[in-house]
Amino acid sequence: MTQAYDVIVVGAGNAAMAAALSAREHGANVVVLEAADPQNAGGNTRYAAGQMRTVFRTVDDLLQIVPDLTESEIAISDFGSYSREDYLEDVGRLTQYRCNPELVEVLVDNSFATLRWMRKLGVRFQVSYGRQAVKVNGRFRFWGGLPCEVWGGGPGILEAYYRAADKAGIEVRHYTYALDLVLDQRRVVGVRCASQGGTFTVRAKAVVLACGGFEANAEMRARYLGPNWDLAKVRGTKFNTGQGLSMALAIGASAAGHWSGAHSTCWDLNAPETGNLQVGDGYQKFSYPTGIMVNARGERFVDEGADLQTFTYARIGREILAQPGMFAWQVFDQRAVPLLRDEYRIKQITKVTAPTIEELAHKLEGVDARGFLETIEQFNKAVPEGEPPINLSIRDGRSTTGLALPKSNWAYRIDRGPFEAYAVTTGITFTFGGLRISPRAQVLDAAWDPIPGLYAAGEIVGGIFYGGYPGGTGLVSGAVFGRIAGREAAGVSEA
Ligand SMILES: Cc1cc2nc3c(=O)[nH]c(=O)nc-3n(C[C@H](O)[C@H](O)[C@H](O)COP(=O)(O)OP(=O)(O)OC[C@H]3O[C@@H](n4cnc5c(N)ncnc54)[C@H](O)[C@@H]3O)c2cc1C
Repeated sequence: MTQAYDVIVVGAGNAAMAAALSAREHGANVVVLEAADPQNAGGNTRYAAGQMRTVFRTVDDLLQIVPDLTESEIAISDFGSYSREDYLEDVGRLTQYRCNPELVEVLVDNSFATLRWMRKLGVRFQVSYGRQAVKVNGRFRFWGGLPCEVWGGGPGILEAYYRAADKAGIEVRHYTYALDLVLDQRRVVGVRCASQGGTFTVRAKAVVLACGGFEANAEMRARYLGPNWDLAKVRGTKFNTGQGLSMALAIGASAAGHWSGAHSTCWDLNAPETGNLQVGDGYQKFSYPTGIMVNARGERFVDEGADLQTFTYARIGREILAQPGMFAWQVFDQRAVPLLRDEYRIKQITKVTAPTIEELAHKLEGVDARGFLETIEQFNKAVPEGEPPINLSIRDGRSTTGLALPKSNWAYRIDRGPFEAYAVTTGITFTFGGLRISPRAQVLDAAWDPIPGLYAAGEIVGGIFYGGYPGGTGLVSGAVFGRIAGREAAGVSEA
């Protein structure tokens, strides 16, 4: 079967739907090809918490995105501001300044306008009182430059996009797995697909690849990320198998960015192989800045307080992967327990408790108890005197002294029972390496010239994230470049 459209979009997640809606807005006849069934369509976007990092100056800017914000909420909240320079600096710092500056500038400079565009499409936003604010002296203080999240999380984005697509007459074909790109001379003119009925080709004047990275492909993880990455748990969809990358590389697309790097974090040790939509992001365990993490030897292996959690969590999965047995226990005392995030209160959890630290030591499965007790003793000796309330909204500078591996902020003794500990392993979120694109989302070839008719957006793009990642940037990147890719692809069709 062969059918002709102006634009084919591969994938039905955030980047894909932004591309499809933008192409339609610019007059194109669009079809979306999605590997999954309707319940699982939308890839990692369906699993996402929905936090979105945008430039904003004042509460008036926030009101353009979150008009439901009430006067009384504004009166008790310190939202701060997040400038273009803050954003550029955070991405630069966390990627060791390897990121492609042109692409990052496009991402940052379009962040606010793109969230407003999403709002017009029906995506609703709220401020993150639950995740990104702490109450200090009766006021909510937002931290990490990230006060905005989608109402209803990732599924909320998809619901709004799918409704808008339906209204705009965009066809979404489920159970349709893209296999190859079809060329006419140098130009991409279609996609060969597999579905339950066999293989077939869909034709168009342009193709947008927005079908994610290779995080759900154990073979590619081992090949590109290295040994034991095949053992990592996948936080999101099983459908992001890297096929979009393979088919673009096969026609000469240039690979860019950190192919041996990935966003990965603390994830429940006994979570399933890939994400579970009932639990969503509940398997994540992000309260490590208020405690310590130990490996099988009972030793700490990471500075749990190196920075605000939103700036460290995406690289901790890699640290856990390097530990014996690829697991760690997060340990908290009663100073920290009341501050644990909601995800510590779910049923699907690997947790032990004990009234004393000695008893806890023997309950930490796989951990050398003596090594653990030595670690606790040395750690408790190294923390500063005094007991100010724990304030996670700032880097409080309460660092250990004299330890080879410091805890640089929020260092409090761990001596107030009962104690709680949670077992975690490496949960991979998405891969950093991808296709080289221009600021206009054109996929580039080996000479870094655009491949006619081919665009890309979202996780499939390389060159933006390396090593680390500021929380809430993945969805913004997908929406910004998806919107651009859709417009450009429609432009090709108009030419
Ligand atoms: C648990 C979790 C929480 C997260 N929380 C946040 C957050 O709060 N904020 C944030 O910014 N980011 C978050 N992220 C990251 C964010 O979800 C991703 O960066 C973003 O959703 C990626 O969007 P995308 O459109 O590029 O890919 P996806 O949303 O993964 O979409 C890819 C699509 O392509 C389809 N597909 C794959 N291969 C094929 C093929 N061969 N043919 C056809 N279709 C195919 C998939 O089925 C899917 O629909 C989170 C991720 C996870 C897993």
